[in-house]
Amino acid sequence: MSNHNVLGIIGGGQLGSMLCQAAKKLGIKTIIYCNDQNSPAQNYSDSFICAEYTDEKKIIGFANQVDVVTFEFENIPVQTLKKIQLIKPVYPEPNINFIIQHRSREKNFINQLGIKTVDYKNIFSNRDIENVEELLPGILKTTTLGYDGKGQYIISSLKDFEKIDLKSEFILEKKINLKKEISIILTRYQDGSSIVYEPIENIHKDQILDTSKIPSNIDDKTANLSKDNSIKLANELGYIGTMCVEYFIDENNQLFVNEIAPRVHNSGHLTINAYNISQFESHVRSVCNLEKIEPIMESDAVMKNIIGEDIYNYKNKEFKNNEYFFDYLKKEAKPKRKMGHLTTLKI
Ligand code: ADP
Ligand code: MG
Repeated sequence: MSNHNVLGIIGGGQLGSMLCQAAKKLGIKTIIYCNDQNSPAQNYSDSFICAEYTDEKKIIGFANQVDVVTFEFENIPVQTLKKIQLIKPVYPEPNINFIIQHRSREKNFINQLGIKTVDYKNIFSNRDIENVEELLPGILKTTTLGYDGKGQYIISSLKDFEKIDLKSEFILEKKINLKKEISIILTRYQDGSSIVYEPIENIHKDQILDTSKIPSNIDDKTANLSKDNSIKLANELGYIGTMCVEYFIDENNQLFVNEIAPRVHNSGHLTINAYNISQFESHVRSVCNLEKIEPIMESDAVMKNIIGEDIYNYKNKEFKNNEYFFDYLKKEAKPKRKMGHLTTLKI
């Protein structure tokens, strides 16, 4: 069925670990390429290459050992992905990262399809902070390399800009009153068809995902629109693999795309236990061109992220039959670092 027997994965965090586990189940070997010697995914992969993402020799060596390449985080230099693409297929397509790695390009792409994002303005130099009053209070975000709220600043008044070094590129987004946040996980296969998981409701604390649950408590109209928008985005990108679209819902029930993640996503961890097929297995099936399986939700579920030193409260704990604890096996419990998660099924 498949001619892809060895899957190369760039990035070695928990998403990589879970991709390796899904691949193993399907009889596919994995090689992790990561710049961190302590990368947790090496515990689950068949082999591990530790090198910088710009190390051309190592990258080419890696590409020669695998049949197809994917990645578990989006901030890999696009040039690196394009070099690999000369040797082996890379899914999702590297040009997609060029758009999504940059918040301004990403929002522009989404709006051009007639899909709403919150109002924003590019802040590429000091001059751009004129006439931004209607976006205040707002959130200033670096255009690249932000995650888990890193590189973000609340701007309540123009005075707040004084503390910030505006040398790099930012966008200023209007801060909206969130009623809810949801995400859509979907997997688009190589024949252009997609499978879509049910909307997931997400609660963030300090801009980091805290809990995700299914079913989400939203009306059918919003649920359908969020699914339709996500499929439209995936089709337009020519996406192959699993991706996530994060949405805001405001007090007037308006739906906005927050951001797209071109990879498996933290909010989809509950698919491992609550569905017949996880977001990770769907991703591996898609990039390795295996048979498509429709996801079926088998149970309601809640997933809680375990952050920082809180992990030590779980390591020796006894769990009930409906509780599934995942320890990411990270060497150091730094504050704000995702260390594990607990999924509880409501059977
Ligand atoms: P990251 O790329 O770090 O995940 P996000 O842009 O998704 O950053 O922001 C993280 C969280 O911060 C969001 O999930 C949301 O809870 C909050 N947030 C971000 N932008 C806005 C906004 N414009 N209005 C209200 N809340 C926001
Ligand atoms: Mg986010």
